[in-house]
Amino acid sequence: MRLIDVILPLAIRDTYTYALPANMPDPESGMRVLVPLVKKTITGIVLRTYQGDAPEGVQLREAIEVLDEHPLVLPAQLRLWRWIADYYMCTIGEVMVAALPSKLIDNDYTAQTETYITLSPQFADVEQLQPVFDCLKRAPKQLELLEIFLEMSGVFDGESHPVERRELVEQSGGSVAILRTLIEKGILVEKKEVVSRLSSYDLTVENAHELNGEQQRAKMEIEAGFQDGKVCLLHGVTSSGKTEVYIHLIRAMLDTGKQVLYLVPEIALTTQLTSRLQRIFGKQLGVYHSRFSNMERVEIYRDLLDSSEPKVILAARSGVFLPFRNLGLVVVDEEHDSSFKQQDPAPRYHARSVAIVMAQQAGAHVLLGTATPAIESYYNAQTGKYRLVELTQRYAGLSLPAIHVVDLKMQYHRKEMYDHFADPLVEKIRTQLSAGKQIIIFQNRRGYAPHLACKACGYVPKCCNCDVSLTYHKRISALVCHYCGYTIAVPPACPQCGGEMRDQGMGTEKIEDEVARLFPGARIARMDLDTTRTKHGHQRIIEQFARHEVDILVGTQMVTKGLHFDEVSLVAVLNADSMLQMPDFRSYERAYQMLEQVAGRAGRTGSQGEVIIQAFQPDMPVYTYLQNHDYRGLYREQISERKVFRFPPFYRLIVLNIKHREYSRLDTASRMLQEQLGRIFGNCCSAVLIPPVARVQNMHLRQIRLRIPVTASFSQAKARVVQAIAAVQALPACKGTIIQPDVDPL
Ligand code: ADP
Ligand code: ZN
Repeated sequence: MRLIDVILPLAIRDTYTYALPANMPDPESGMRVLVPLVKKTITGIVLRTYQGDAPEGVQLREAIEVLDEHPLVLPAQLRLWRWIADYYMCTIGEVMVAALPSKLIDNDYTAQTETYITLSPQFADVEQLQPVFDCLKRAPKQLELLEIFLEMSGVFDGESHPVERRELVEQSGGSVAILRTLIEKGILVEKKEVVSRLSSYDLTVENAHELNGEQQRAKMEIEAGFQDGKVCLLHGVTSSGKTEVYIHLIRAMLDTGKQVLYLVPEIALTTQLTSRLQRIFGKQLGVYHSRFSNMERVEIYRDLLDSSEPKVILAARSGVFLPFRNLGLVVVDEEHDSSFKQQDPAPRYHARSVAIVMAQQAGAHVLLGTATPAIESYYNAQTGKYRLVELTQRYAGLSLPAIHVVDLKMQYHRKEMYDHFADPLVEKIRTQLSAGKQIIIFQNRRGYAPHLACKACGYVPKCCNCDVSLTYHKRISALVCHYCGYTIAVPPACPQCGGEMRDQGMGTEKIEDEVARLFPGARIARMDLDTTRTKHGHQRIIEQFARHEVDILVGTQMVTKGLHFDEVSLVAVLNADSMLQMPDFRSYERAYQMLEQVAGRAGRTGSQGEVIIQAFQPDMPVYTYLQNHDYRGLYREQISERKVFRFPPFYRLIVLNIKHREYSRLDTASRMLQEQLGRIFGNCCSAVLIPPVARVQNMHLRQIRLRIPVTASFSQAKARVVQAIAAVQALPACKGTIIQPDVDPL
């Protein structure tokens, strides 16, 4: 009989086998197929079709319907999915979920009948809507729906894209009749199909800047590296023109008819970079972004699937899952950035590693770029696995920012502190403000204060689902868990003793208040997760700051990533020590990267920028490396420690996260697993570790860490880990234990 192996979007098994009914033609691998699963139907991807027999005593169920005429997933993608599942120890079904826009595998997907709503063409200019608003004043429900539509279509952000009818009705509370009225009045228009966003750009394309001598040399060295079949690492100081070099390489690749994938950290996908690339690549640019609607993502996916025309796709990490038919180059910008690693759910992949494998399979080149390489990448460049290319000068002869470290102990001792601002910092900010310059203040914690505590008894309100204290958010007068989102009102007094509650520590909200007090008259904005939740929130703040409608920007690490502002002369880091106190072998590397990147926002045009770092332990060597912009110094120190303490790149790590609702079962399962793995891996298996936050969302947590020497077989090691996990999970005493492997954890 004819059988098919199908990938289903599930975490249980790799593939599922179904019989093909007699009247159904053979599906190609990569096509979607509808199959029964228990009492439901579910969409899967055909992996292969073959002649075979059902295993003894098994009644195979029949596939219901093949949904595609052409494969939706290309053979190259299936190969990559397989690699990801094997390497990152998950099922290929979990990879499928990450890889395809969910709309493509939802069962209700019916592209042909999707209906979209747009604004009637007579309102091309939004101002023409004013009379409509006036006349709808007496029809508040219609007005409300119109406003929801305008928000969804991005009109307030100067855009105007079609909105799915279904989504609009959902968002507006199910008012189909009201929508119909607006359509009948000729305000909104209903359409069965949408004009592709990709082809709707109408832009005059500009030429790229000419590269200067150093950039030209870098470009040639990169091309020579590609000729040798090597991954290239472009190590260029901030504002040296790395992006300009990418642009030239991308142009050259498109001119040979090939496609390019340009990966950036999610948060760097701003209009700043997008419009810079749009001006140069025009219609050849596509943007793929998790904040885009499903529809927009499906469109990019389909567009690539249907043609092998030269295109450059700017994307966050999930861009590695797009169906390139003709890939010539992958650029991974800010390659050190930890957001390239997906933490949860599986596949816990690192887009940099996946990009390298993807390019290898496609015969394409890979360029990694950054001002602060990951230690692993720089090691690969030092040992000759990658080709190292350097840009040591900022463009147009600008100097790198001057970095001063202020000793907070001394400042507090001398009582020369204003709130959390040391005297020299306050002075500096005043001078810069009066010179009409802009300032960025970096504080890596959001909210008002990390906790609230009772002055009398010391009681600290904790999350009821997680073992963490609740963060105080003053603006919404609430205490919020940053792990699970649990939120309560601020208690007026201590729930235990009735004492007075006081906040401890500082977050961005508190800094914003202090800035307002210290520098009255300055225009202030705050950029953190809380102010950027909406689709365009992040962008709005950046644009305001770029137009100099804001003098001081207070923010978390969001402000460190790839932004370019002309008039920022000063960057301040309020408490650098907190980054170095993490019990993690990467904390120095991370702190250096973050500080160098945030410093890199200063003085990008005009005079030399300045950076003030406040620290309680100003003598840490990391500050000396920073002051000298001495990445290599940091690298040498870190690589020798990693060797001594047996960390990457000398050992590979696998962390097993063990979870259970019941404490006792968790305890048993962790000990059993540790015993088994200890027998296999000896002292390369850790004890059972209690993570710093040992309960999240009512799940108790434990960890076991494995280190595998790079000289040993990684796949064999993983196979033994899988066996041990299965053995433990099969024990009745460990029933219900979740064990999640994290390969190459960050
Ligand atoms: P990086 O990516 O290394 O941070 P960018 O490519 O963003 O640096 O360059 C920093 C600034 O200098 C940008 O405004 C860019 O347009 C400008 N720039 C860099 N190289 C050139 C060049 N060759 N010609 C004109 N402007 C350049
Ligand atoms: Zn919680």
